[in-house]
Amino acid sequence: MHLKLKIERMARLAGHGLRALADQDHPLLAHLIPIRRCNLSCGYCNEYDAVSKPVPLEVMLRRVDLLAGLRTAAITFSGGEPLLHPALDALVARARSHGMFVTMITNGYMLSPEIIGGLNRAGLDHLQISIDNVEPDAVSMKSLRLLEPKLKWLSELAEFSVAINSVLGAGVQNPKDALTVARRARQLGFQGSVGVIHDGHGQLQSLSGIEKELYQAIKSLQGWRPVRLNRSFQDNLAEGRPNRWRCRAGARYLYVDENGLVHYCSQQRGTPGIPLERYTRYDIRREYLAEKSCAPYCTVNCAQQVAIADNWRAPQRALAAVPRLDPTPAAAGIPAGDIQLAP
Ligand code: SF4
Ligand code: SF4
Repeated sequence: MHLKLKIERMARLAGHGLRALADQDHPLLAHLIPIRRCNLSCGYCNEYDAVSKPVPLEVMLRRVDLLAGLRTAAITFSGGEPLLHPALDALVARARSHGMFVTMITNGYMLSPEIIGGLNRAGLDHLQISIDNVEPDAVSMKSLRLLEPKLKWLSELAEFSVAINSVLGAGVQNPKDALTVARRARQLGFQGSVGVIHDGHGQLQSLSGIEKELYQAIKSLQGWRPVRLNRSFQDNLAEGRPNRWRCRAGARYLYVDENGLVHYCSQQRGTPGIPLERYTRYDIRREYLAEKSCAPYCTVNCAQQVAIADNWRAPQRALAAVPRLDPTPAAAGIPAGDIQLAP
């Protein structure tokens, strides 16, 4: 990666970080789903189907613009498999045009030199691939051997940073593979991390003795990486201990599904379930203060990472006890959508 590009990226991130500390009224990260379909069918996954069509480009561009209107700092495109969307480059470029930090999560199967070149030109900042095993098995085809050529192309061609996430827990058949994956990521010069997989409800299943040992071995390989600001969260999850934190989903972290509805996260779809074009700063303020009962054993890593910016701020309470901070946009005489563009 070019040094100039790296410095520009760090400077942009630092600017977003300072703004996050100064102002709590905007999302730090939104996950945006351009397509629900996936080309794989991992046994533990509840986030894909086999039939959905890509969301039309104009609709997706509008959603990116609406998130920019909410002053969102970063967008992650995920799915399903986001590379199945035929205009992903255009979405990345649009998000970058708003000054956002732009990342994607992919299973890597569709990567090619041409696709990587397109993502470079669009200005992608970061890409994450999760690799579950060395050889494919009945649970997952996200396998080191099958992805090896893609990883080589990434190491040679990508102008964005790359992180390889190895996984433990929730029925991974050969937990030792996680260490092999982490070692290979390091050889290729990628960022590495280890995630504790959640069950179908986003909640923790305890790691076995061998999995805990492997977790420690992978951790000692990693060194400090900016992709793992929340190391103590992961340590607690590996040990089966609850975390004490304030989940700011619905405020600092948004999950916008393929229908344009805003949810807390992939594991709490349906709440609050408000269309993005009607999501306002008042919704952000309400959800910022709302306590999430699922927080102690949550494994949604990105929500935990962004929560670090606010863990020291305002205590939370049950949603029903959050004071009504706002009139609805309609009651305030403000057309839905416009309110997001207010400074
Ligand atoms: S590749 Fe990702 S989205 Fe697709 S089935 Fe596997 S975990 Fe789910
Ligand atoms: S704690 Fe927050 S991120 Fe985790 S499952 Fe609950 S709502 Fe989602």
